[in-house]
Amino acid sequence: MSNQTYDVVIVGGSFGGLAAGKEAAEKGLKTLILERGRKPGDKILSGCGVPPWIFLEMPWLEEAPIQRWVNQFCNHNIENGDVHVSVCAGNSPGISIPFIYCKTFLGWLAEKAEGAGAELRTSTVSASVIKEEGHVRGVITEDGTEIRSDVVIAADGMWSMTATKAGIRRKLQPDNILHLVAYDMVMPSKEALEEALGGSAFHVFWDPGREIFPEHFVYLGIFPYEDSFHVEGGTSLTYLGRAGRDYDKLYKSFFELPWYRERFAKAKLRSRMWRPYPTFEGLQGLLRGHDNTYGNGIMIVGDAAGFMATASSAGIPQALLSGRMAAEVAAEAVSKGDASKKTLKQYEEKWRNSIILPLLNNYARRDYFRSADPNFNKRQSFETYFWPMILQEPV
Ligand SMILES: Cc1cc2nc3c(=O)[nH]c(=O)nc-3n(C[C@H](O)[C@H](O)[C@H](O)COP(=O)(O)OP(=O)(O)OC[C@H]3O[C@@H](n4cnc5c(N)ncnc54)[C@H](O)[C@@H]3O)c2cc1C
Repeated sequence: MSNQTYDVVIVGGSFGGLAAGKEAAEKGLKTLILERGRKPGDKILSGCGVPPWIFLEMPWLEEAPIQRWVNQFCNHNIENGDVHVSVCAGNSPGISIPFIYCKTFLGWLAEKAEGAGAELRTSTVSASVIKEEGHVRGVITEDGTEIRSDVVIAADGMWSMTATKAGIRRKLQPDNILHLVAYDMVMPSKEALEEALGGSAFHVFWDPGREIFPEHFVYLGIFPYEDSFHVEGGTSLTYLGRAGRDYDKLYKSFFELPWYRERFAKAKLRSRMWRPYPTFEGLQGLLRGHDNTYGNGIMIVGDAAGFMATASSAGIPQALLSGRMAAEVAAEAVSKGDASKKTLKQYEEKWRNSIILPLLNNYARRDYFRSADPNFNKRQSFETYFWPMILQEPV
């Protein structure tokens, strides 16, 4: 098993890693994707809404398995013990958000990457990088196998051990991490679910008066899927540690609101899930600037690079897009025989000149807690999800 050699090794077989793997293999590179889970998607959240602008960049995604097309993004405020203000965005022709089950979607994406010729090795943890005279030359797996490559693409998510070991990123602190809990709910029938949702809508709840949500708890969302829905929300790890907030109690208070009871009284809890995600990247000195996404022999993509747009909790498009960009630059580096910083710098230039940079700097990330104004929320939801499609300038 020792002495394995590839043009490019990608650590992480999720949105960023598989998009990079597909592109690299299509460009003729000998490509290996390492994924610690038994299957892509085993280790990440079950469901998500995907900002649809990515379909303009990657039209081939239109064949991907979608759970539900959602055509309304509704913001609600909790006031005086109920949901009182509701403002919906969307509902225009051609503007729908695909909601996906990540595992199904990633299984499909893995097939695309493998179909293009990439090798996907699952249940394999990359433990470190091979570094020689300041140049990353491959990775070392948990069992000590050395895998050498001209280029390493770190697509291993927010904790990115690969980027940390390469000396490019520092570890996230508790303030940088949002602890998010999702309750996976089912209704007795599909018809009951449709009726309760009131059309294909994504419902988001804000609590300006802090009647239910504790301080620093962000929003609570009802994420709709084909025959289930998730209720999810969260707070930063720092706050969670300080307040010791009981999620069951919080969600129970939400389930007791008349608005929810009228619609979802028959809903049953199927499972509970939690996941951390990076938050406030735009505000933290640690991540501000996003100016360290490459080094000699290495590029960092997706959540590993801090590309998640906090306000919309959306990072899938940026992961897919940056994965593709890194693979394009890797192909050039391999053909030139030069994977030094000088060549890989193009990766950073590419994403800075793309929609990724304005998404990271979007005002919504700075005003995450300014949630009392429903019109502001409407604009924020609309712009963070659809703005790249309508090419409006960021405020
Ligand atoms: C609760 C929650 C809700 C979200 N909702 C949305 C949403 O609605 N819409 C949206 O667009 N985005 C959403 N996101 C963000 C989105 O999930 C991420 O931005 C996206 O998954 C980033 O993709 P990625 O490929 O960069 O990293 P990840 O999806 O985090 O994947 C990293 C992969 O690397 C693997 N890995 C990690 N370390 C190693 C290692 N050492 N060796 C081998 N493999 C390794 C992991 O197993 C994983 O498969 C949400 C995130 C969370 C947490």
